[in-house]
Amino acid sequence: MNYILPLLSVLIGYAIALIIKPKKKKNLKLLLAFSGSFLLSLTVMDLLPKVYESHNHSIGLFIMVGILFQIILEFFSKGAEHGHVHGHDKINSMPWLLFVSLCIHAFLEGFPVGHHHDLAYGIAIHHLPIAIILTTFFLNAELNKTALFVFMVSFALMTPLGTLVSDSAPAFTQYFTEITAIVIGILFHISSTIIFESSEGHKFNIAKISMIIFGILLASFI
Ligand SMILES: [Zn+2]
Ligand SMILES: [Zn+2]
Repeated sequence: MNYILPLLSVLIGYAIALIIKPKKKKNLKLLLAFSGSFLLSLTVMDLLPKVYESHNHSIGLFIMVGILFQIILEFFSKGAEHGHVHGHDKINSMPWLLFVSLCIHAFLEGFPVGHHHDLAYGIAIHHLPIAIILTTFFLNAELNKTALFVFMVSFALMTPLGTLVSDSAPAFTQYFTEITAIVIGILFHISSTIIFESSEGHKFNIAKISMIIFGILLASFI
């Protein structure tokens, strides 16, 4: 499950965008709001207490490093990790900068999954709308089908690959708490940005608030 869920969610998102071609931005926004809230809840309820239990006094610093690292990644990806894509220009070749930064992001997210099984659900739900949004964006930008396929399959493989590396390399086991703290920083930044950007002009939106509450409740039950 740890490996399958994050892999499948991207492939399913890719397939949904290819086959159904979702037009309703509103539903995607709600799915994003839910995914952000669910991911943030899992982070604060499950991951955060665990790293602080380690009594490593510099753990807070590693969390800040994670936040900073994700901010830097977004210079290159322009926010693709939280479902933010823009531009109407045609994309003729593989968008390498976006590709590499998204892969690094997804790879790192896989690290804590082996020890925190709930996170597999969190990342799966977080990457599903991202895959739909990215595929739709690339289809509109007329990126060639092979490049799109390579892009989405690599993105899908990155999180399970991160889990595999962290589970099998002893060097990473030794620094597991520090790496988890960095991933917490990444997840903090990503999920709060998702929640923030899914609201337009800070207007009160009952549907969105309901999805956020639903995300919190679901995370607290699993
Ligand atoms: Zn953004
Ligand atoms: Zn992610």
